[in-house]
Amino acid sequence: MPRTATAHPPASPSPPSSLPRAADPDRRRTSASVVLRSVLEHGPVARSTIARLTGLSPASVTDYCARFTRAGLIREAAAPRQSKGVGRPHVPVDLDDSRFVVGGLHVAVPYTTVALLDLRGRVVAERRLKHPAGAVESRQVLARAADGLAALLARAPERRPLGVGVAVGGWVDRDSGTVVAHPLLGWRDVPVRDVVAAHTGLPVHVDGHARALVNAERLFGRARGSGSMLHLFVGNVVDAAFATHDEVHHGPRSQAGAIAHLPVPGGTEACACGRTGCLQAELSERTLCRQAREAGVTDGVNPMHVVAAAAGGDRAAVRLLVDRGHRVGRAVGLLLDVLNPEIVVVTEIGVLHREDCLSALREAVGAERAAAVMPTSFADSVLAVAGGSVALDVLYRDPLGASPEAN
Ligand SMILES: [Zn+2]
Repeated sequence: MPRTATAHPPASPSPPSSLPRAADPDRRRTSASVVLRSVLEHGPVARSTIARLTGLSPASVTDYCARFTRAGLIREAAAPRQSKGVGRPHVPVDLDDSRFVVGGLHVAVPYTTVALLDLRGRVVAERRLKHPAGAVESRQVLARAADGLAALLARAPERRPLGVGVAVGGWVDRDSGTVVAHPLLGWRDVPVRDVVAAHTGLPVHVDGHARALVNAERLFGRARGSGSMLHLFVGNVVDAAFATHDEVHHGPRSQAGAIAHLPVPGGTEACACGRTGCLQAELSERTLCRQAREAGVTDGVNPMHVVAAAAGGDRAAVRLLVDRGHRVGRAVGLLLDVLNPEIVVVTEIGVLHREDCLSALREAVGAERAAAVMPTSFADSVLAVAGGSVALDVLYRDPLGASPEAN
C-alpha cells in the first residue's frame, strides 16, 4: 500500500477541530455540513459519489475532504495500489472514528448519565451517577458529572474530546445554555453551559433532551432522511420535540415542546401545578412506580423493576405497562393531529422493552397512522446518546467552524 501524504494523514494531525463555543447564529446547512453528513451516511464512499449525491462540484468535495482529513475527522478507507494523482476522487473516504469523542451528560431526576460518544454517535463509555440523597443542588450535580466525564476520558487517553453536550428535561434554553425551569429537580435559571465549561475547559452545548434525541434520530437513527419527525419523551419528565428536515423547532427561548401540562381527558392524577390530569402527572415514571407499589408489584421507585416484574409474568405489572402504552398512544394521537409528522419516535420504558406496549400504543394512535410510530433507535443508551448528540449536532452542522487550522 503506498504511503503517501494523501493516503495517510500524519500520525498527529494538526490540532483538531473543537466545537464552536458560541451558539451558531446561522444554522443553515453549509456545504461542509452536507459533505460530512454524506460521509457519515454513506461512508466508505468515493468523493465522486459524494459530489453526485450532494450536487456539489467534485473540486469542492475534494477540497472539503482534504480539510476534514487534516482535521482528523475523516480518512481514506482503502487506497488502491495503482492509485496516483491528486485528489483521487474514486478512493473511498470514511469517518475517522478513532481519534475524537464528545462528552455526553444527561441529568435525570434520580441520576446523571455521563458518557463518551464517537463521531458515529456510538457510546464508547458510560457511567451512571446517582444523585446524593436530599436536595439535588445543581452545581454539585454538575461538578460530579464533570468529574465523572474526566474519569472516562482518563481511561481513553487515545481519544481527544471535541466538546461536551448536555441534555436535560424541562425548559432548557439552548442559546443561553441555561436550564430555565426544571420543577422536578427544583432547578431554576441554572447556567449549565457555564458551569460545565468551567469544570471541563471544553466547549459545552446544552439542549432539552427531547430535542437532543430528535437530532440523534436524524443523524444516527431510523429517522435519517425523514422530512419531518416528532419525538415524545416519557420518563419522569414528559416533553416533545418536532423537526422539519434538519431543523428542530425551538421557538422563543426554546419553549417549544412543553407538553407536561396538556390535559388528558379522564385523567385523575393530581399535578404540582394544582390541576388534575396533566399529561406529565398521568404518565410520569413516578406515577407508574406509585401505581406499581399500590398493586403490590414492587416496593421501590425504579421503573425498571416494573418492567422486570412484567417480564417475570406478573400480570399486574403487564397491565400497568400496557395501560401506560395506551395512554402514551393517545397523547401521540393528539400531537399527530396538530403536527402531522412523517415519523413519531417514542422514548418510553414499556414501549422500549415490550411488544405488547408498542402494540397498545399503536392501537391508540389508530391503524392508519400506526406505522409512523416507532420506539427510540437507541434502546438502553438513550440518555447517553441524548447528551452526546447535543455536541455532535453542532459538529455536523459546522464541521470546520472552530478549526481554522483545517481551513
Ligand atoms: Zn399540571
